[in-house]
Amino acid sequence: MSRIRLLPEILASQVAAGEVIERPASVVKELVENSIDAGARKIEVSVRRGGISLMRVVDDGCGMDRDDALLSLERHATSKIRTAADLAAIATLGFRGEALPSIASVSRFRLTTRELEAVAGTEIIVSGGRIETVRDGGEAPGTQIEVRSIFYNLPARRKFLRSENTESRNIEHQLHLQATGHPEIAFVFVRDERVVLQLPAAASLLDRIRDLHGKDLVDRLLNVEELKNNPAKIRIRGLIGQAGVSRQTRTQQLVFVNGRAIESPMLTAALREGYHTALMKGQFPVTFLFLDLDPAAVDVNVHPAKREVRFRDPNSVREAVVDAIRRTLESGRRDWQQQFQRPVAPTFPIPPEHFTPPPIEQRQFTEPAITRVIPSRADGEESHKLPETWPAEEAINVASSSQQFQIIGILNKLYVLMENQDGLVLVDQHAAHERILFEELRRRMEEQGVPSQRLLLAQTFELAPRDAEWVERNAATLQKMGIGIEPFGQNAFKIDSLPTFLDVSDPVTFMRKVIDGLKSASNGSSALRLGEDMIAKTVCRHAVKANDPLRYLEVEKLITDLLQCDLPYCCPHGRPTMIQISHAELEKKFGRKV
Ligand code: ADP
Ligand code: MG
Repeated sequence: MSRIRLLPEILASQVAAGEVIERPASVVKELVENSIDAGARKIEVSVRRGGISLMRVVDDGCGMDRDDALLSLERHATSKIRTAADLAAIATLGFRGEALPSIASVSRFRLTTRELEAVAGTEIIVSGGRIETVRDGGEAPGTQIEVRSIFYNLPARRKFLRSENTESRNIEHQLHLQATGHPEIAFVFVRDERVVLQLPAAASLLDRIRDLHGKDLVDRLLNVEELKNNPAKIRIRGLIGQAGVSRQTRTQQLVFVNGRAIESPMLTAALREGYHTALMKGQFPVTFLFLDLDPAAVDVNVHPAKREVRFRDPNSVREAVVDAIRRTLESGRRDWQQQFQRPVAPTFPIPPEHFTPPPIEQRQFTEPAITRVIPSRADGEESHKLPETWPAEEAINVASSSQQFQIIGILNKLYVLMENQDGLVLVDQHAAHERILFEELRRRMEEQGVPSQRLLLAQTFELAPRDAEWVERNAATLQKMGIGIEPFGQNAFKIDSLPTFLDVSDPVTFMRKVIDGLKSASNGSSALRLGEDMIAKTVCRHAVKANDPLRYLEVEKLITDLLQCDLPYCCPHGRPTMIQISHAELEKKFGRKV
């Protein structure tokens, strides 16, 4: 007796639905993507009870005639691809022809649609995959789809739904993705009869992000430097958080490939590598990154929900992303440097022990300021008098020049206080020093190699065959990192020198750790990153201790050196080095402005 049977159509759709429709947010995703593919200018999404009781998507796109509307509910029916060649270069969000039949098979479903020119539209009602009604409908041009009681006929699935709140939040996140991917489309989101998002069509990505997340975030984003002539022939654009801007979750780490929001461990790793020392441990960057590449160079037909993609040349994509992020972060430095070009000597008393006036020729800045220093206590009586020119007046002059800054003093032996045009700047002298040392060592590592120091006693140790092979292959990189290691018989090595700045008590254990760490990085550029990690972990010990008192000139040098760094705003562990508190924020705090 034969045991193999063809599944009935409805059951087959429910099986497919298992992959495409995981939760209410997946329904919203598929429906909104259809609306986008249909050329909608405005999309309205309403949900009730986290989408569990109702989801409705209304668009003003091209609509369908009656035949197409009926066909759209068949499995594998799509207007978006026709041939295998089309599949190889997909330009639309949909192409599988699975979403509508899947959704309709696991819910109570109503579709009304009308083409722009048509006199009448069509209304189709489906329940659990069975078409119940087909009739003329009179809605506005476009398409409206209502999905009620999702999974009502699949109790096992229904049990997996989370709380209404969680499902709601998933839907909202999905809308954020779509709205970010398509700023030119207006979006409205209504949750339980309340409008929670109302986004007008935006002229630019920046405007859309401002509407979604507010001005404060936008002010801390950098425009991605466009990449030209890269081997992957990939265009990278968008906005990313400045160094030091990060989140505890990945919800604002958005990457779009040819307009499609995707999740990709490879790209996540590339973002991390691009940010590298600009990101605190366990934190995620903020990115609104768009990769546009030849549709033939990326396969979107990997995942039923189309969340993942496969690149033909993942390595060049990865490198292009790392490069774009790094250059963008470094470009942010120019703005800061603009603001901090010229230090102005202070116009108020600095404790004499902190202040050794520099020889004039060393100071291209100021003149008058020094002469206005309030006479110090050593000058006797005068110390009680107020100076003729009160610092504030000078400060106003400072503030009016956009390029100047002035060191005001040091708080708690740790924070350098400065004033610039925008207000108050606080610099963590320890973090700043770490950044300076880090970049200095990294430069040396890249140029002539890190200086190394001979061990008193060379040590030998054995490695597993694969590790041994790895060490032999990467001897040059290790040398650059200041590690002197050479073969010493079968799978054995001798280590006789380590970087001078390292303070290692057990060279062999240290070496095993380094090898483990480096091994997991697959190529040259990542090995460099790992060298950076090693430096970052060790410079901390050499950096100015938090409580080291610095003299005025030392502070000034620290600030100038910091501003020369590639990434001056954060220490090599991603913590901020400086914080700006604007005049506006101060005014707010003092209740001068609301
Ligand atoms: P796919 O999007 O993969 O083609 P779907 O099942 O999502 O498959 O949709 C099937 C077809 O129905 C689409 O190819 C499209 O022609 C049509 N369609 C779906 N939604 C809309 C819409 N909102 N407006 C116009 N046509 C639509
Ligand atoms: Mg679709």
